[in-house]
Amino acid sequence: MAERTILYERLTWPQLREAARAGQVVIIPFASIEQHGPHLPVDVDLRLAREVCLRAAQRNPNCLVMTPMAFGFEPHHMAWPGTIDVDWDVLIRYGVCVVSSLAHHGFRRILIINGHGSNRPILEMIVRLAQVKHPEILVAGQSWFALGKVAEAFQPLQESSHTSHACELETAAYLAIDPDAVDMSQAVADYSFRRSPHFWADLTGKRPDADSTVPLIAMEYFATGSSTGVRGDPSKATAEKGQAALEAAADEVAAIVEEMRARAILPPPDHHDADVEALKRQAAARSA
Ligand SMILES: [Zn+2]
Repeated sequence: MAERTILYERLTWPQLREAARAGQVVIIPFASIEQHGPHLPVDVDLRLAREVCLRAAQRNPNCLVMTPMAFGFEPHHMAWPGTIDVDWDVLIRYGVCVVSSLAHHGFRRILIINGHGSNRPILEMIVRLAQVKHPEILVAGQSWFALGKVAEAFQPLQESSHTSHACELETAAYLAIDPDAVDMSQAVADYSFRRSPHFWADLTGKRPDADSTVPLIAMEYFATGSSTGVRGDPSKATAEKGQAALEAAADEVAAIVEEMRARAILPPPDHHDADVEALKRQAAARSA
């Protein structure tokens, strides 16, 4: 399939009508324009999320890639030049509007692939709100770097202690896509963030040590834990590591598209007037 035809924005309305009728899954990249240290452009999250979606669509003809939702949630991250911050409620409503429009046009399965860590709570609310607003569709999302196959592919190659921001993983992935846009002479480690058993973050979920179970939900101002705008060690990045991570992410997204296509969309019942014994029999039948 030529690249033109996997891009939602490049199709005509009759083609999009046909795509909706054919049950195509729409994948929406969700990202940010955000400083990524002195060595990377500010479009890292946008470029990587979109790249994963494009590679997935090249693998699986049953999906289209939507125009990205380019901006993200950044109030903690304005200490360096370049970052664009959009209010949380605007982003959530914007995302629900995009999904609602797709639902209106007959698309029934929508997958949002996020590239920006601080979009996670926004993504979750978009998915939850759009789902209850449109019970006739299935909407889901995840951050590309959090996919299990990315951890499987990248962690064995990883040389830095953790990945967080403009780090070994993000720099490697950008090197795999566009090495000329990465200034590796400016890529230096920044481990300013004070990690402790419950204050840590890692893009692929790698635990710092045996005492660490799950990180607390917390977001101190980003510059309290980074001097250069980096968290991690981008100097360890190579294009080969990035290629492995992107390919793993694309494989998993392509598989998720099929999983979503196979998942029946059930009308939500209302049990206020239901017979309890009948519900128990139904539960037994469905559990068998
Ligand atoms: Zn990033």
